[in-house]
Amino acid sequence: MKAVFSEKHCSHDPQFFLVRGQVKRTTEQPERADRLLKGLKDGHHTLIKPTEFGQGPRARVHSPEYLRFLEDAWSEWTKLPDYGPEMIANIHPVRNAATYPTHITGKLGWHTVDTAAPIGPGTWEGACAATDTATTAAQMVLDGEDAVYALCRPPGHHAYRDMASGFCFMNNSAIAAAHLRQKHQRVAILDVDVHHGNGTQGIFYARGDVLTVSIHADPTAYYPFFWGFAHERGEGDGLGANLNIPLALGTGDDGFIDAIKVAAKTIQSFAPTALVVALGLDASEHDPLAALKVTTAGFERIGAALAQLGLPTVIVQEGGYLSDILGANLTATLKGFEAAR
Ligand code: ZN
Repeated sequence: MKAVFSEKHCSHDPQFFLVRGQVKRTTEQPERADRLLKGLKDGHHTLIKPTEFGQGPRARVHSPEYLRFLEDAWSEWTKLPDYGPEMIANIHPVRNAATYPTHITGKLGWHTVDTAAPIGPGTWEGACAATDTATTAAQMVLDGEDAVYALCRPPGHHAYRDMASGFCFMNNSAIAAAHLRQKHQRVAILDVDVHHGNGTQGIFYARGDVLTVSIHADPTAYYPFFWGFAHERGEGDGLGANLNIPLALGTGDDGFIDAIKVAAKTIQSFAPTALVVALGLDASEHDPLAALKVTTAGFERIGAALAQLGLPTVIVQEGGYLSDILGANLTATLKGFEAAR
């Protein structure tokens, strides 16, 4: 399989992560991409550098003021006296009859959901490389490739139209889906990251042309807590075009595969002509954020189940954190996919 990758991801190197009141180093580290890259090399996949598409594909999904904020954030921040090493908001408006702020501290609060998306000097460059990686993979599928993998870092599925959260700044999977929509009237996104794809759900919640399906750890006891429940089914034109399949903490291979079978029925009845897989590998039994217990053999079965949907597919990397088998889980997923194609 062809795999798109940019070394520019490493310009985004966040440090801050607030966990149960304790500041730790974030798990979303550049080394993740090194391990995933090794997984691609072990699988003998062909590496492609991304094309730079400019703002167009990003602007299909994100608001103009949000893109302007992300691009200018660091230079505005460093004009403040006593600015910190990373941008983390200390106030959020919760949008109740609020006015869009002009001060950078206000904009930071407006455009972030949580403290897990610190912005540093290289965040914009790294996040742009990730959207170009996803868009390049989508363009290759539009040009006739059957399936292409995009090694995106930072991940994207927690990013909303105008808000960053959960390690994510721009929604790579949503951008890939919107790019595919140029040619495909109906596109499905299947998110298999251990966390609910709340940003992706938010972006397409009122749209009937993009089906969003997410399989994830039960949000009653796991991030993102406020979204990802089965009763969230979309609204307006999008009513019925959003499916959440929460799994009990500790679910393993069989339970995950059963969930993909449920997802497959909804995808088939929606009748899309292209698919984006938001591929988190953090459902692994060895992931440091451990909530589910998928084995490496389980990821191979997941890859096969995704391939059996039979659609032109863009596979976008989402989560999956440092463990000794992170790369092997990617190799296994893509191996299962290719074998079942
Ligand atoms: Zn995740």
